[in-house]
Amino acid sequence: MRHDRSFVARGSGTGLAGGATPLGRPILIVTTHLNRIVDVDADARVAWVEPGVLNLDLSRAIRHLGLHYAPDPSSQAACTIGGNVATNAGGPHCLASGVTAAHVLAIDVVLPDGTEVRVGGLEPDQPGYDLRGCFVGSEGTMGIATRVAVRLTPNPRAIRTLLLDFSSIDDAAATVSGIIAAGVIPAALEMMDAEITRAVEEFVGAGFPRDAAAVLLVELDGLEAGVAAEVDEVSRIGRASGARTVRIAADDAERALLWKGRKSAFGAIARIAPDYYLHDAVVPRTRLVDVLRRVAEVCAGQRLTVMNVFHAGDGNLHPLIAFDAREPGIWARVRDAGDEILRACVEAGGVLSGEHGIGIEKRDAMSLVFGPDDLDAQARLRDAFDPAGRANPDKVLPRGSRCGELGGAPPSADGEGTWI
Ligand SMILES: Cc1cc2nc3c(=O)[nH]c(=O)nc-3n(C[C@H](O)[C@H](O)[C@H](O)COP(=O)(O)OP(=O)(O)OC[C@H]3O[C@@H](n4cnc5c(N)ncnc54)[C@H](O)[C@@H]3O)c2cc1C
Repeated sequence: MRHDRSFVARGSGTGLAGGATPLGRPILIVTTHLNRIVDVDADARVAWVEPGVLNLDLSRAIRHLGLHYAPDPSSQAACTIGGNVATNAGGPHCLASGVTAAHVLAIDVVLPDGTEVRVGGLEPDQPGYDLRGCFVGSEGTMGIATRVAVRLTPNPRAIRTLLLDFSSIDDAAATVSGIIAAGVIPAALEMMDAEITRAVEEFVGAGFPRDAAAVLLVELDGLEAGVAAEVDEVSRIGRASGARTVRIAADDAERALLWKGRKSAFGAIARIAPDYYLHDAVVPRTRLVDVLRRVAEVCAGQRLTVMNVFHAGDGNLHPLIAFDAREPGIWARVRDAGDEILRACVEAGGVLSGEHGIGIEKRDAMSLVFGPDDLDAQARLRDAFDPAGRANPDKVLPRGSRCGELGGAPPSADGEGTWI
């Protein structure tokens, strides 16, 4: 405030939408040294943590209490709780328990004018507007989170992890729909297509079938008797939908190996190509097969290699285009394919992002799903936190979002960024 400069909050910088990338010359405020777990109340199942605490470090620190922090982005060994809050991060185990917004009770925020406020609170049913809900997912455009109260989740009594493999993506998708239609909500329900399954198997050697067209990783948790019944139900649905084999992890070591395979999927790409562009969009579960076909067509049309690894249970697609950036003209083809994939997801009734956020990457695509009035309302909401436009300028909302500014945006306070 005193320096009258715009600023960008940054955690570990693992964000995939460019949210923490500075545009112009803002001050970068890096939170990684704010990494204390300040207080853990095991009885209330709440912890207060600083924003630079790494996601996995929190779960490790409370393991002895029989608790964990449920949102588990695949980057959880590296990303921060502050970054998770700002992007409303998800993860494989968010299908049953919900994404970050469902696990954040209160946030201490330094507003762009220097004021310190608390949004939300520890008591359920906070009166008034849900400002905590506004802040979660605001990607650093409403201030900086300096302390977060998160909900802790008891470790399940029983866990079973199943690997089902299929000779067609359609059969795998039918199994996903069948599981949900049967009223079973797995803790996690992940799909990988043929290319990524092979890449992962070569990388990790977890026993994924190299000749499968698709595999499903299904995790069921809860009380022993209920989990056993659900294992039978999921196996039955899988076989009825064409699963070639249903493998149930025999012990924790096998379970950990299967998850290592899933969570190393992006690392495994390095064996195929030096670069990749990972997309993130959501489609209705019932449209998964159509959209996957369209993704394959679009990438074939641009002569690009595409692989799919995604949270099938909630329709969160992650088409991954593998390429070599040294190839002349490749970037334009990768970008064109990405735009086309995004349009196909929106046309199928989907949304722009399931977990990575909007950042710079999808800022200009916001108008695919929001009209001028919607964008104007969002700009005004942002203004309530940051009327001078200092916090992470030029992210999330397209320029000129506010009605009357379509003709051009005035410069921000430090003359570098622009007002939204
Ligand atoms: C291999 C890989 C796998 C991934 N898997 C997943 C996944 O499964 N699910 C998922 O959701 N994401 C995933 N991501 C994306 C990324 O890890 C998440 O978006 C994560 O939440 C970002 O955390 P970070 O600490 O790196 O934040 P950064 O990248 O540093 O910042 C992200 C955004 O948060 C803002 N921000 C950071 N800290 C604060 C703060 N204290 N106050 C206010 N704003 C702040 C920044 O301004 C920026 O807009 C993955 C990334 C990689 C590289």
